[in-house]
Amino acid sequence: MEKPSVTKRIGSDMTRFTGILAACLIILPLFLTLSVLYRHHSLSDADEAFAVPRAPKETYNQVSEEPKDKLLSGLLSPNFNEKSCLSRYQSVLYRKTSPHKPSPYLISRLRSYEKLHKRCGPHTEAYNKALEQLKSGDKIGDSECNYIVWISYSGLGNKILTLASAFLYALLTNRVLLADPGKDLDILFCEPFPQTSWLLPSDFPLKGNFDSFDQKFSHCHGSMLREKRLSSTRTLPSFLYLHLAHDYNEHDKLFFCDEEQSVLHKVPWLILRTNNYFVPFLFLMPSFENELQKLFPEKEALFHHLGRYIFHPTNDVWGLITRYYKAYLAKADERIGIQIRSFEDGQGPFNYVMDQIKSCFLQEKLLPEIKMQESGKIPSKNPKSKAVLVTSLTAGYYEKVRDMYWQYPTGTGEVIGVYQPSQETFQQTDNKNHDMKALAEIYLLSFSDKLITSAWSTFGYVAQGLGGLMPWIMYKPENRTTPAPACGRGMSMEPCFHAPPFYDCKTKRGRDTGLVVPHVRHCEDMSWGLKLVGRNEL
Ligand code: GDP
Repeated sequence: MEKPSVTKRIGSDMTRFTGILAACLIILPLFLTLSVLYRHHSLSDADEAFAVPRAPKETYNQVSEEPKDKLLSGLLSPNFNEKSCLSRYQSVLYRKTSPHKPSPYLISRLRSYEKLHKRCGPHTEAYNKALEQLKSGDKIGDSECNYIVWISYSGLGNKILTLASAFLYALLTNRVLLADPGKDLDILFCEPFPQTSWLLPSDFPLKGNFDSFDQKFSHCHGSMLREKRLSSTRTLPSFLYLHLAHDYNEHDKLFFCDEEQSVLHKVPWLILRTNNYFVPFLFLMPSFENELQKLFPEKEALFHHLGRYIFHPTNDVWGLITRYYKAYLAKADERIGIQIRSFEDGQGPFNYVMDQIKSCFLQEKLLPEIKMQESGKIPSKNPKSKAVLVTSLTAGYYEKVRDMYWQYPTGTGEVIGVYQPSQETFQQTDNKNHDMKALAEIYLLSFSDKLITSAWSTFGYVAQGLGGLMPWIMYKPENRTTPAPACGRGMSMEPCFHAPPFYDCKTKRGRDTGLVVPHVRHCEDMSWGLKLVGRNEL
C-alpha cells in the first residue's frame, strides 16, 4: 500500500475537517432543536404531574371574566359605579350560583324603595322638612317622608342582622332607613342604595344623645306605654325611641302588636336600638302577613336576599377577602368553613371543644379520617384537595386541626390544607382594623362549599345566609363536656331571633310563639329562639 504524501494528507485532513464542520453545522441545530423539544415535552409532563389542582369552574376561575349574573337575578340595581365598590358585582364570581331567586315583587319593591330613599335621603328638601318636624317635638301635620334610624350597637354579626331587620321593617312601613355609622360602618360597607346615602348625617340633632337612649328615656316607646302617655287620641311626639335589645321588657315588646303598629305608623321618626334579628316575629303579625308572603314566598331565603342586597364590603375590605381567597382557598377542589365561637368562660382552647370540632367534621364526613401509619403506597400524583378555613378569636383550634392533617396521612389520600386568616384573641368591636378582619372572615366563610358554625353566633348566621349554606351547627356545650351529637344540620339557613316575645297580642296572654305558624319555628341551637324555615309553601 502506498503511503499518502504530506500535501495529500493535509488536503484530505482539510476535507475531513470541512466535512465534520459541515456535519456539525447541520446536526447541532437539529440536536438543539430536538433537545429543546424534548426538554419542553418532559417539563410539561412534570408540570402535569405536580400541577396544583384547578379551582372548580364555577368559582374563582371566572374572576377575570365578566360575571354572568352580576345583578343577582335583578336583586341589585345596575345604577352604581362599579369601581367604587368592586364587591357589589364581583362577589357572584366567588360563589356557586344561588338556587334561590328573589321574587319579582321583592325586586319591584326594592326599586321603589331606592326611589323613596333618593327622594327622602339626607339633605334632600323632604329630609330637611322632616328635621324641622323632629326639632319641633310634636307631630304636626302629615309628613312626606318617615324614617327609621338604626343606632350602631353590639358586635358586627349582630349589627348586620339588625340592619337587615330594620331595612325589612322600613320596606313594610314605607320608612327610610338611616344608619348611624358608629365608628366604622362607612369603612366596612359601600352605600347600598344608588345615588343617595344611608348614613345618618353627623349633624343629626339627636345623634349626640344616642348613648343615653334607654328604657328610662322619656321618649322610649315601652316606657310611654307603661305610663300610659301614648295613644292615638293624644298629640303624638315627632319621634320615639324603640328599645328592642335583649333586655327589653313586656312594654317594649308591644312593638310586635298590630295595635301599636297603627300608632307607630303616625310617628315620623323612629329611633331603634336592637341586637336582635327580629324578622321572624314580623311573620306572626297579621298586618304584615300578606306583604311578607308576596315579598318572600321562599321564607328561608329572606336574609340570603336582603343580605346580598344590602351588605357590600368596601374596596379595602374586598382586598382583604380576595387576596386571601386567591392565595389559600381558590385552588382547592372543595372549601370547608369552620366558624368557632366559644361562649365558654375562660380563654381556651378547651379539649372538649376541640373534641367537638373533630367529631363534627369526621362524623358528618366533611373531612377525612387520618391513618396513624403510612401505608407505603405511592401517593396519587394529583390528589383531591380540600381547603379548610378556620375562623376563631384564638389560634389553638386551628393549630390542632392543621397539625392533625400534617402529621398523619388521610385514609382517602386527600390533601387537607388548613388556614386561619386572623387570631385577634378578644373581641374589639368598633376598632376599625379588627372589624375589617371580622367582615373579611364572615365573607370568606360565605364562599365555602360546606360550613360548620357555632351555636348562638350571629357571626356564623351572617356567613351561612350570605353564602346560601345550610350549616352544620355545633351545639353549645353544657357543663364543659362535648355534646353528643357534636353537631347537626340546620333546618334552614336563616338566622335565629334570640329573644322573641312569648305573647299573644289578641288574647293578651302568653303563648309559645314557635307553634303558631309552620314557617316560624324554634331554632336548632337555641330552644326558645325563633327562625324562619321553608323552601316553598309549607
Ligand atoms: P356573635 O357574638 O358571635 O353573635 O357575633 P358578633 O359578630 O356580633 O360579635 C362577635 C365579635 O367578636 C365579632 O364581630 C368580631 O369582632 C369578634 N370575633 C368573633 N369571632 C371572630 C372570628 O372568628 N374572627 C374575627 N376576626 N373576629 C371574631
